[in-house]
Amino acid sequence: MSELVDRLADLTAHRDRDVLDVTLVTALHEMFLPQLVAVHRTVGDAGSERWLTRARMAHDDVAATADNTLAEIDQLPPLDARPHWRDCLRGQQVLTIDGGDASPAVTLFPLSTDVGPIGVLEVRSEQALLPSERRAVGSILRICRNFESLLDYSERDTLTGLLNRKTFDNAFLKLALAQPAGSAADLERRASGPAQHYLGVIDIDHFKRVNDGFGHLIGDEVLLLMSRLMRATFRHHDRLYRFGGEEFVALLHCADEASAGVAFERLRANVEQYLFPQVGRITVSAGFSRIRPDDTPAAAFERADRAVYFAKGHGRNQVSCHETLVASGRLDEGQPVGDVELF
Ligand code: GH3
Ligand code: MG
Ligand code: MG
Repeated sequence: MSELVDRLADLTAHRDRDVLDVTLVTALHEMFLPQLVAVHRTVGDAGSERWLTRARMAHDDVAATADNTLAEIDQLPPLDARPHWRDCLRGQQVLTIDGGDASPAVTLFPLSTDVGPIGVLEVRSEQALLPSERRAVGSILRICRNFESLLDYSERDTLTGLLNRKTFDNAFLKLALAQPAGSAADLERRASGPAQHYLGVIDIDHFKRVNDGFGHLIGDEVLLLMSRLMRATFRHHDRLYRFGGEEFVALLHCADEASAGVAFERLRANVEQYLFPQVGRITVSAGFSRIRPDDTPAAAFERADRAVYFAKGHGRNQVSCHETLVASGRLDEGQPVGDVELF
């Protein structure tokens, strides 16, 4: 019992959803020493989700491993490629697959949050889990579910479900530390150098007119649909935020500036082509900037925001890149904001 309480304390010690699955798998590995324990989550759009293994630990492993979270979505297995996992996820019921004499028993536990099903926990053991073991795993998963729902409540925007501003600084600083050193030009020259991160600010054009013409409720629906278009346009590993009002922020992992430009341009085009109920067509202006190794969240945000401002001043419904504007003399590099907190 005290071991279970210790594990639960470990699980809830980190307020970091990135390590939640690893902590869960490590705890279950220590408690039951199964042949394998793994967390598989679904990623991608509803209807075409794929499996991403977020943490996996075999009997002899000393640490958990995971699929590459930056994998392209079409390289991940579709839901139907793992029919047992799919059935457990859809049915939201524990599934036991008895492997017979030769192979291990597999127990699948559904994972969900307040928003709905999110994945499955797989436990492979020589013999089927005892009822008491299943109950213990079930209790741990209920606590994980409540904990993740709490994280969602404090870290997500209630209207769109995108991340809110509060978690932006930490996520940004993690990315900045991982940035390759060197100027943008140096990095472009290096063949297949490490991928970089870009911060983009997306602002709806003339959104006041939507509110004034159709009311705030319809305005809010436009914001919700915008967030869906963003999810569908960007990759599953990109981080998407609503910074308040009708301003959105995206942290993208891209090979180079051109690929980041293509991604933001794809969003601009998708929004332009989308028919918003009642409102009809709307457009967005976006600005982006490469994240530098010694960046601060405020400095990078300001660069991207200045690029949005440029786009607004030059006809709206367009994407601007801060570095390109500076290189072509259309924008000053500007005073670095340094440690000044903008948010
Ligand atoms: P621009 O093209 O220059 O961006 O023009 P704009 O009208 O979009 O101007 P701006 O970005 O300054 O206006 C933001 C407007 O967004 C002001 C406010 O009416 C509206 N707004 C802010 N937050 C919300 C919200 O939560 N819901 C709704 N419906 N509207 C909001
Ligand atoms: Mg606007
Ligand atoms: Mg605005």
